[in-house]
Amino acid sequence: MSDKSRAAAAPQRGLLSADPVGDFDGAAPRVSFEFFPPKTPEMEARLWEVIKRLESLAPRFVSVTYGAGGSTRERTHATVRRIRNETALEPAAHLTCVAASCEEIDRVARDYWEAGIRHIVALRGDPPGGLGSDYAPHPGGYAYAADLVAGLKRVADFEISVAAYPETHPAARSSDHDLDNLKAKLDAGASRAITQFFFDVDLYLRFRDRAHDAGIRVPIVPGILPVTNFAQLKRMSAGCGASIPGWMAAHFDGLDDDPDTRRLVAASLAAEQCRRLHANGVHEFHFYTLNRADLIVAICHLLGVRAPRAAAATA
Ligand SMILES: Cc1cc2nc3c(=O)[nH]c(=O)nc-3n(C[C@H](O)[C@H](O)[C@H](O)COP(=O)(O)OP(=O)(O)OC[C@H]3O[C@@H](n4cnc5c(N)ncnc54)[C@H](O)[C@@H]3O)c2cc1C
Repeated sequence: MSDKSRAAAAPQRGLLSADPVGDFDGAAPRVSFEFFPPKTPEMEARLWEVIKRLESLAPRFVSVTYGAGGSTRERTHATVRRIRNETALEPAAHLTCVAASCEEIDRVARDYWEAGIRHIVALRGDPPGGLGSDYAPHPGGYAYAADLVAGLKRVADFEISVAAYPETHPAARSSDHDLDNLKAKLDAGASRAITQFFFDVDLYLRFRDRAHDAGIRVPIVPGILPVTNFAQLKRMSAGCGASIPGWMAAHFDGLDDDPDTRRLVAASLAAEQCRRLHANGVHEFHFYTLNRADLIVAICHLLGVRAPRAAAATA
């Protein structure tokens, strides 16, 4: 299906035009940003510069990841609470099932609620040995993300986002079973799915069509990863089952020692990916920021997502 016919079929659609800002039909999309908790005071100081800079773009929410096996538990909590206390941003805390009992997780959730945190990104998490190793639920813990969503809803009426996989979760029995699992997470009380990163827009659109056919009506927000380090991307993709199209490797070919050009290429590819998605009726984007602001600000600018002063000057 072409971009044009998909746009016609999409529930909400943008205008197709050659003008990248015009594509957004006057209404800028909504965005959210994902950070990881900093390890050192220096990294924390840098993250806070990034958060302050991105705050001006008025994201719908910002989320903070939870290290594998709960390894960043305290740092995640501290970052989420600081965002709540020191910014106007709506923080969302990632929480996983791995290596914790239901009681421990419920306690964490209650602490969040009492601290004014109302949004959780609920995940199963990877087994301690990585995705390649067998997953065994913690005895007395929540087994899968759907169980965690149901448990969190019993604790309090959180807004809950869950993960979705346009290319199917690597350990899933089948793509149909994986889609049933997504539906189970939403039926348990989640109100949004955020996708694993992907680069082939058609993959996402086919997945969205399948989800729609399965009766899923909540937003399936594409997770956008601007790529500046291609070698690192290859390692990350191998771990999570996201494919890298051949054309992408070609775009980065010969740029190993040229970080400035890699950044320009990264911004341009991610902006084009978002433009195509928006032209196909996508109005929300979740950015994996990797705790950096420059590229995200540039891509958002191209999408028409701007700080109020910049937006007023354009108008
Ligand atoms: C947006 C996003 C954010 C993430 N943030 C983090 C993070 O902060 N920290 C972190 O550690 N990881 C994070 N991850 C990675 C995630 O934890 C892994 O991908 C993990 O392997 C699966 O988590 P899930 O919530 O999708 O699991 P689930 O939805 O529980 O699914 C996991 C697998 O089990 C299968 N399955 C589900 N239910 C059953 C069942 N009853 N019986 C048999 N099989 C079943 C599913 O098909 C799938 O293959 C994130 C991923 C995404 C996309």
